[in-house]
Amino acid sequence: RFITFEGIDGAGKSTHIAALTERLAAQGELVNTREPGGTPLAETLRGLFLNSGMDALTELLLVFAGRRDHLRQVIEPALAAGKTVLCDRFTDASFAYQGFGRGMDLAQLATLEQWVQAGRQPDLTLWFDLPAAQAAQRRVGREVGAREADRFEQQDLDFFERVRAGYAARAAAAPERFARIDASVLVPEVWAQIVAVMEARGW
Ligand code: C5P
Repeated sequence: RFITFEGIDGAGKSTHIAALTERLAAQGELVNTREPGGTPLAETLRGLFLNSGMDALTELLLVFAGRRDHLRQVIEPALAAGKTVLCDRFTDASFAYQGFGRGMDLAQLATLEQWVQAGRQPDLTLWFDLPAAQAAQRRVGREVGAREADRFEQQDLDFFERVRAGYAARAAAAPERFARIDASVLVPEVWAQIVAVMEARGW
């Protein structure tokens, strides 16, 4: 099983990835990973991606180069060994951020997706959805005393609403893969939705 987690910054993915990791650990071997990143090479690319200014096409190509390495080195071997892979962001983020957020051509993105993934898609994508303004408020709380915001987190609300619309479009195009989670509610209520999605699949 290949499960991905998506949503705009401040949606609450991290908290629930940790909780789902605990729940699934009893069922078999898990691999927890993330994008951009997930291998030494892809983590190096992530550092460049987050902290250096670059045009949107360069950004997109770096993310897909990292994804190729990540698939070959981590994701495909784990799935072949029967493990469950939990990945914090994957290709839907490229469509949402680089496509809808930064205006990159969606047909070209789809070509890259096919080329790099050779048909591999997540079995389930948990999409944490909430209004951009609410996510921005949460980020303010999180950044105090934590770490510097990366260059994407400093984008304006319009940017994040475009990213959100991108996720909505991807969800509409692949409804069997996507589960929309209403992330605007309290943590226990978000978690209850995730449990319901897992139980509906017998996971
Ligand atoms: O999810 P995480 O916080 O690790 O993502 C790191 C940053 O990279 C975030 O600010 C996210 O918005 C951004 N990002 C992006 N394009 C992607 C994936 C992540 O701009 N394809």
